[in-house]
Amino acid sequence: MIPRRALLLCGAGDAASLDWEQAAGHMSPQQAHACEQAAPGLRSVHAAVFPYYTPPQPGANLCLYARGEDYHRVLRRRMGQAAQQLEAQHPGHRFVPFADASPFPEVLLALLCGLGVLGKHGLLITPRFGSYVFIGILASTLPCADPALPVRHCPGCMACVRACPGGALCGSGFCPGRCLSHLTQMRAQPDGEQLALLRRSPLIWGCDVCQSVCPLNQGLSPCALPEFCENLIHSLSQQDLALSDRQFRKRFADRAFSWRGVAPLRRNLLLLQGRNE
Ligand code: SF4
Ligand code: SF4
Repeated sequence: MIPRRALLLCGAGDAASLDWEQAAGHMSPQQAHACEQAAPGLRSVHAAVFPYYTPPQPGANLCLYARGEDYHRVLRRRMGQAAQQLEAQHPGHRFVPFADASPFPEVLLALLCGLGVLGKHGLLITPRFGSYVFIGILASTLPCADPALPVRHCPGCMACVRACPGGALCGSGFCPGRCLSHLTQMRAQPDGEQLALLRRSPLIWGCDVCQSVCPLNQGLSPCALPEFCENLIHSLSQQDLALSDRQFRKRFADRAFSWRGVAPLRRNLLLLQGRNE
C-alpha cells in the first residue's frame, strides 16, 4: 500500500507525497536539519489534510477549529494507524506522524505536494475543503520519487486583508501581535490596543474572520470525521470558566482550547461581557 492510500483510509480528506531531498531544498539548512533530527533516515514526507468545517452557530464563542476533539490527538491517532499499517507492509522502514508541534513546515510541505494554494492569510487552501483543514505530516524512511510542485497562490482578492479586525495581514506580512487567534491564547498581559481588539471580538478563543470571508471557502460541505462534527462545544460558559485551572484542564483535556489553561479564556470572557454590558 502506498502512503497516500493509507492516509486516505485513516480518514484524511486528501494526501500526497514528496521526496525529502526536494522538500529540503525549499527550507533553510537549519530547518531541514531539525526535521532530519526528528525523523532519522528521512527519505520522504507525506502530507495529509483533515477537514474540520462545520457551519457556524449563532452566539458561539469558540472558533470553528476548536469545537471538536483536539486535532493534535486526532491526527496523531489516525496517522498513527496509517503508520502501523505501512510499517507492516514495508518491513524495515519507519513512518512517523507529526501534527503541529514539530519542525516540519506543514503548510509549505502541503503546497509542495500540490494539495492546494497559499492564501494571503498564510493558510493552505484546498480545492475541496477550503482552508478549514488540519495538516498532518508522515515522515518516512521509504524512498519516494514524487517531485516538489511549484507553490501556487490564491487569486489575491484581498478580502481577508480588508476584513481582519486587527490589521494583522497588512504591510510587510503577518503580525501575530495583532491577530486575535494569537491574542486570545496569550497568557501575558495584553497591551492597550490588544485589549481593545479582544473586547471587540465575539470569540474568546480563535478567530474565523479571514477564513469566513474568503471566496474559496464558500459553499463547503460539513466535514465527515466524527471527532470534528460530533460532540462539538460551541461555547464556554461563565460556570465553565469559574473552574480552577486544574479542574478546567481535566474537564476539557480532549479539547485544543484547554492547553493554555483557564486564565486567558476567563480574561477574554470578562472582556467580552464588559463590552456587552
Ligand atoms: S485570524 Fe482573525 S485576527 Fe488573525 S489574521 Fe485572520 S482575521 Fe486577522
Ligand atoms: S480572501 Fe482572497 S486574498 Fe484572502 S486568502 Fe482568500 S482568495 Fe486569497
